[in-house]
Amino acid sequence: MAIIPINLKSGTLKKEVYIVGIDLGTTNSLVAVIDESTGKPKAIPGNDKEVIVPSIIYLSPNGEIVVGNNAKAFLTLDAANTIFSVKRLMGKSFNDVTESAALFNYKIIDNDTESLVKIQSGDKFYTPIELSSFILKELKQRAEKALNATISKAVITVPAYFNDAQRQATRDAGKLAGLDVLRIVNEPTAASLAYGLGLNQEEEKTIAVYDLGGGTFDISILRIHNGIFEVLSTHGDTHLGGDDFDKTIVDYWLDNKLELRDLIKNNPFLLQNLRLMAEDAKKQLSVNNSFESFLKHESTSIELKINRKKFEQLIEPIISKTIESCRQAMKDADLKNSDIDEVIMVGGSTRVDLVKESVKKCFEKTVLDDSLNPDEVVALGAAIEADIIAGNRKDILLLDVTPLSLGIETLGGLMDVIIPRNSKVPQRAARQYTTSKDGQTNLRISIYQGERDNIAFNRKLGEFNLTGVPAMPAGLPKIEIAFMLDADGILKVSAKELRSGVEQKIDVKPQYGLTDEELETMLLDSLQNAKEDMNYRSLQEARTEAQQLIYVTQRFIEKNKTELSTTEIEQTQHFLDLLIKATNNDNKDEILKAHDELNDFTKTFAERLMDKAIAMALKGKTIEGS
Ligand code: ADP
Ligand code: MG
Repeated sequence: MAIIPINLKSGTLKKEVYIVGIDLGTTNSLVAVIDESTGKPKAIPGNDKEVIVPSIIYLSPNGEIVVGNNAKAFLTLDAANTIFSVKRLMGKSFNDVTESAALFNYKIIDNDTESLVKIQSGDKFYTPIELSSFILKELKQRAEKALNATISKAVITVPAYFNDAQRQATRDAGKLAGLDVLRIVNEPTAASLAYGLGLNQEEEKTIAVYDLGGGTFDISILRIHNGIFEVLSTHGDTHLGGDDFDKTIVDYWLDNKLELRDLIKNNPFLLQNLRLMAEDAKKQLSVNNSFESFLKHESTSIELKINRKKFEQLIEPIISKTIESCRQAMKDADLKNSDIDEVIMVGGSTRVDLVKESVKKCFEKTVLDDSLNPDEVVALGAAIEADIIAGNRKDILLLDVTPLSLGIETLGGLMDVIIPRNSKVPQRAARQYTTSKDGQTNLRISIYQGERDNIAFNRKLGEFNLTGVPAMPAGLPKIEIAFMLDADGILKVSAKELRSGVEQKIDVKPQYGLTDEELETMLLDSLQNAKEDMNYRSLQEARTEAQQLIYVTQRFIEKNKTELSTTEIEQTQHFLDLLIKATNNDNKDEILKAHDELNDFTKTFAERLMDKAIAMALKGKTIEGS
């Protein structure tokens, strides 16, 4: 039910709905909306006048949930119950995060490694979806207060490399917070929108979005044409960001002050204070040339100093890594610097001078798009997207691409791609298949994501059965498998036997997702193993074809015993045995040879007997029965 507020003074209806834009960040989150008076997006501040909500959740023992700046202090006071970086866990299983689990101070449950991770606090368990919903609720509330209206609709941003599971988890978090998530948008796309790119339909541009946040770095190369945003490539590091800048300063101070080392050794909790001081120093060095302060504890007071030159020296190797990623992304997109029209700076850490200078140099640009607040730009873009969805800006379409190929398993454990990697979303694609056995009434459809020919190396997303197909000879059913990838990158699969109209559908909600390292590894593996994969595919295809021929020949002999001579039957059996033996070995040529021998021999008499249905069984791709 929609709530329509009435302004009692004027007697007029207030604006019915606001759709807000939300940047649900690893370190910081924000909510933004289009300002009615200016028509421009603006980030909404909270009671503390700050627009930034640190993505920190304190789960207090009395059940109170504290989010944002007020939760920050508990990082030191009650680390076990203070959750940060929950975005890293979205859509992940414990298996996916084992390596990084040590980085978290809070407890991640590992009893069920395949399903989504849970976080323990006291005697309660929370999913990353619930935890993210607490942040979203906080943002929703501050928007409601500022706008004096009920907020129930939002656009939420995610990194370009987020997969189905991670996007779905983000959507679910929204739902849990009482928000209808109208669209999940890629962060670089939102940032471009904030700079007005893509709003003009005639415009054609290639842009680089450099996003250096608190703990993650992403570079995305986008092509915008006809209002379509195409991600040409993405690269980055999920464990590199402003936190690392802070760490270098902490280490520098510890390395150079023995008394500081002793103080921390005896009072380890002071390390967090030291970190906060380092962050402070970093921020000040974006405007001043030097920083000076004191770390105080009881009667001790230690002077801490650093100047900009030293700071730049410390962080240079970190920045170099990001530049390396930029080069890689350009290479992946097959572009030269002169092809890039604009470079957009996103994330709080791009306030650091040396970062800007290094990015300029890398892309050989004299100007960068950095006039907007780098930590607000994603949320501002999300608000623009929300405005587009609300129908306030006509003719604008926003599209993204899928990072990995999607397909199904065909006979022999082979991946058959239905939607190739880098396809634009939304996308619909369908393909026809048939059965491998006579009278087959059930088919198992297994859905995979990945680039390898052998499905064992790809990720299984789901599985379902198409049942109730009327019994027909092998090869006769026409089964259409359709993949529909919606604008959020969520997949729906349907299977329909076209002769009978029997149909089955599922929404693929994968149990767990991929880290971007895994994604990258999968892509790299597919390139490195391309030759092996090709050999594997041709071996499997030869084997499948042989098995089909064996099946058909055996059935044929069985059915036509009376029509054949004893020699014909004996000879056929001989070639059959040879082929069966060959299929058990991994030699493709041997299989093909035995296949042809059997085929050639039976041809002499098969031609006179073989009926159409059997001939058809030799054609077409088939799916395993369930
Ligand atoms: P995320 O996208 O990861 O949620 P943000 O884009 O908000 O994060 O970036 C947060 C990072 O930006 C933190 O490491 C913070 O210290 C850093 N940062 C914020 N302001 C400044 C500044 N003035 N100078 C340098 N770094 C800054
Ligand atoms: Mg961000």
